[in-house]
Amino acid sequence: MRLDTKAMRYLTAEDWRTLTAVETGSKNHEVVPTPLIGQISGLRGGVHKSISALAKVGLIARLKNAKYDGYRLTYGGLDYLALNTYRKRKDVYSVGNQIGVGKESDIFVVADEKGVQRVLKIHRLGRISFRTVKANRDYLRNRSSGSWMYMSRLAALKEFAFMTALRDNGFPVPEPLSQSRHTIVMSLIDAFPMRQISSVPDPAALYAELIAMILRLAQYGLIHGDFNEFNILIKEETNKNATEDSKTESITLTPILIDFPQMVSIDHVNAEYYFDRDVNCIKRFFERRFHFVSDEKGPHFADARKLVGKDGVERLDVSVEASGFSRKMAKELEAYMKEVGVDGDGSSAATPGDEDEEENEEDEDEDNSEEEDSYVDRDQAGTSEQPESTTSTIEESG
Ligand code: ADP
Ligand code: MG
Repeated sequence: MRLDTKAMRYLTAEDWRTLTAVETGSKNHEVVPTPLIGQISGLRGGVHKSISALAKVGLIARLKNAKYDGYRLTYGGLDYLALNTYRKRKDVYSVGNQIGVGKESDIFVVADEKGVQRVLKIHRLGRISFRTVKANRDYLRNRSSGSWMYMSRLAALKEFAFMTALRDNGFPVPEPLSQSRHTIVMSLIDAFPMRQISSVPDPAALYAELIAMILRLAQYGLIHGDFNEFNILIKEETNKNATEDSKTESITLTPILIDFPQMVSIDHVNAEYYFDRDVNCIKRFFERRFHFVSDEKGPHFADARKLVGKDGVERLDVSVEASGFSRKMAKELEAYMKEVGVDGDGSSAATPGDEDEEENEEDEDEDNSEEEDSYVDRDQAGTSEQPESTTSTIEESG
């Protein structure tokens, strides 16, 4: 989904208040009645002008079949609210190119006031998920109000919480910078996903490093759950080794781990399944891409379990739960992800018990151009295939 920030500069203070009122109203109403929008906004002059301004640029949408006159927030509206929060916090000043379109997220390069580039990840749960279940209208009707909004927010909260915990404990992950609603802002990693790397000088060393990372996660009580070539960015650093009589260059490859909404505790009922899947993803990729097969079997889940808490390290599955992303939230998000059959980028619809699907190398990248749908208006959804190539500031003009 495109992120067209053009209208941001033209929204008045009343418009923002009205948009916020629709967001607040959506917590209890699938369709927020117009009088309620007026009431929540507290705008004495009335909200009709703002409502039409917001509807015109697709930030709210009128629901036609509703029994009463009302509006709901669109994904675009929620995006604007998040961006406005970042603008006020001075975390984001401008929005640039879209660098990723995942099944469940959009990734943009953004910049702060000094022009330092960062990454904005917008979670979009429900975009494809609702499409897959569209045939079942009852399912849609039974969804609690704004479930896409709530679930996307949970995904962002979870990702931010784990990224923070991992970063604090020295794991190679992006720096989490800010979080609002269904989005997070993190540092930009200047690297390509391993998926795009055709050869490496020393596959055995990189393999060992990745397996060590899986085991180190286990030591901290965690399983990534989607540890694959899309979620490992490979940073290349050239080291200039100048000696007295020669100059040599060597390249260090550093894997950086991303994408945490599906992380699970090592105590999860299906922990062994997720652990094995993570390990096997790496094994399979190294064999196919680099023709490397490790002499060692495993690591096995039982070995990983023995590492939990080793050297007195903190169990991050436990501390994250205490930090605000509660067990209840984790359960809700997991149930939702399972129900709609979206579980990681490498293996959609794979649930415990399923065999891993045979990957089709050619098809994979096409998956990203899935048609958007459902909760976002057609005209709003736009064409995601064309990445925006302009950078636009989101600063108010006045
Ligand atoms: P999804 O949940 O949709 O898979 P990811 O977090 O895996 O989203 O991000 C999708 C893609 O966006 C990644 O494969 C990577 O190319 C790019 N990306 C995500 N985060 C960063 C980052 N911090 N720095 C650079 N690129 C990133
Ligand atoms: Mg990913």
